[in-house]
Amino acid sequence: MSTKAIDRKRIERAVREILLAIGEDPEREGLRETPRRVAEMYEDILGGVREDGYELIRASLFTEKHSELVLLRGISFFSICEHHLLPFMGVAHIAYIAKGQIVGLSTILRAFSQLCRQPQIQERLTWQMADMMYDTLKPHGVAVVLEARHLCMELIGVKKPGTIVTTSALRGIFHKNEGSRQELFKLIQGRDKVV
Ligand SMILES: [Zn+2]
Repeated sequence: MSTKAIDRKRIERAVREILLAIGEDPEREGLRETPRRVAEMYEDILGGVREDGYELIRASLFTEKHSELVLLRGISFFSICEHHLLPFMGVAHIAYIAKGQIVGLSTILRAFSQLCRQPQIQERLTWQMADMMYDTLKPHGVAVVLEARHLCMELIGVKKPGTIVTTSALRGIFHKNEGSRQELFKLIQGRDKVV
């Protein structure tokens, strides 16, 4: 894990350059603090590059006989598209069937958020999360499904507001066994309110 801090001053200089490049005056009142604010924002939303989700999960594993499905359904998330540095956001569904080892649910969420907080594409975010859980927990199976809207698809280029992109990564039993896969997707799609 890298401990080197994000270079805020460098981001500030770059943002100032962008303001100058679009013909703005970075010294006017409304913009004077903008480079600092943007630098703090990037530190927050892209700081995951400097963390290690594998380490996080490995440090929190514990032994448990449980070997049934664990599904975290409808996790709100956002990440940053690496092509445009614009957000994509939506819901994630993360499931696994344990094989002797489990991990705290909040650790799964923290590890996922570490992957979200870096320049990403939705496809890679999906398989990286699946692989991270598969390699650390060594479970019977892992499934990660993301449904997201991309600001870059809505604001620029094709301009298609409301398009939802779904990606999935299936490992182990969810990949091999049709029945397990169907049961999982039924549970994910069952949008009935439970709380
Ligand atoms: Zn994009």
